[in-house]
This record gives sequence, C-alpha cells and structure tokens, in this order.
Amino acid sequence: MILERRCHGCGAAGPAVCPDCLDALAAPAGPAPTVPGLRGCASLLGFEGRGRDLVVALKYGNARGLGHLLGTAMATLVDPSRIDVVTWAPTSASRRGRRGYDQSRLLAVAAGRALGRPCRLLLRRGPGPPQTGRNLAQRQVGPRFAAIRPGPARVLLVDDVVTTGATLAAAAHALHQAGTEQVWGLTAASTPARVPALPAGRAPRLVSDRAQAGSVTGRESVQNRVAQPKRNAPECR
Ligand SMILES: [Zn+2]
Repeated sequence: MILERRCHGCGAAGPAVCPDCLDALAAPAGPAPTVPGLRGCASLLGFEGRGRDLVVALKYGNARGLGHLLGTAMATLVDPSRIDVVTWAPTSASRRGRRGYDQSRLLAVAAGRALGRPCRLLLRRGPGPPQTGRNLAQRQVGPRFAAIRPGPARVLLVDDVVTTGATLAAAAHALHQAGTEQVWGLTAASTPARVPALPAGRAPRLVSDRAQAGSVTGRESVQNRVAQPKRNAPECR
C-alpha cells in the first residue's frame, strides 16, 4: 500500500509543507498589532491565503506536525536574550479534550526549543465561549485567565492567531498579576487590518535584526531553522 502524503497548507501531493507554502512562512506578516499589556507582539503570517490555510489545518485539521514547523519558524522573530520563559494562552479543557491537543501549546513547545528557553504552563483558562465565531464586540471582552504559579520576570506568550488582541491582553493581565514584569506576544498569524499598528519608531523591539533585515534573509533563516530543529532544549512542563 502506498500512503500518499499531502501538503497541510494547500493539499498538493508531496511533503507535509510544499515549497510554495514554505515560502509563505517567510513572507512578512505586516505590522504587528498593538495589544494592551504586551511590550511588543510579532506574528509569522498574515491570516489570509496560505498562511490562513496552514493555521486552520493546525487548529482544526489535526495537523499536529505543523505545530513544530510553525513554532520553529515563529522563533526566528524573537531575540531569545529578551525572554526567560515561553508560555501559551491555553484553550479550555473541554476544547483540548475534543481536539486531542492544544495547538498553541504545540507552537510554544517548538518555539521554546528553537529559542533554547524553557516552555511552561503558567495560565489556566476560565470557562467561556471560544473567540472563533464571536463578533468584534464580543471578542474585545476576551476570555478570562488565571495564573497557576508565580510569573517569571520576562515571558514570551504564544497564541495561534491575534485578531483583536483580547485573548493576549487577558492572558498578559493574569501574568502581570502573578508578578511578571514583561510580556511579549508571538503568534502564528495576525489579522493586522483590524488592529492599529504602533507608529513607526515607537514599537518595542522584539523582532531580531536578522529577521527584519529582509525577506531573503528571513526566508533563509526560517528554512534553516525548520530544517535543523534543536533537540536538546528544555521540554515543556
Ligand atoms: Zn502547500
């Protein structure tokens, strides 16, 4: 029996992520959104076209391997000297149970490995509807989070998609209440058209110089990191 492999992004026969979709991973996501409580926020992909396909496949298509790939690529946007611990905005226990995994945790584990920083569960999500499918006003309220342990000084907070920023803002609030001094945001995708960007020159620096240097450098960086994942970094606890 021959098992046919298909690209998780576009469905083309071949590797799990075809060269075209790999290119999409290195395309700039546009201006990072401004989120209350975050020192800065970076996103790998625009939530449209192939970028959207990849994130949807991770979220709803059981494409767990994409978590490693996207999380590793997301790490190229971050200067590891600015963070102590990587965490994620957890989905609710019921949704994690239905899906069998928490896609944001997969992204955070991969990003932590690539950055050489520990990845830890710091937050618990309170009950409430998922952000997906809610209207803009409902989304801006955001879910509730509570810290489950003291907050490390500088935290990289990972999520799958930033739309209004309400989820990241709520999670950052809980981290600050637990003692965290700086929270940086990192998402697989963003919908920047809906959220204003910081004026040029005022955005705090999370993105590394290398990743900002241009699409060619960024693409090589993404492809090198995806091709050579670090295996000895701390596991997620
Ligand atoms: Zn593809």
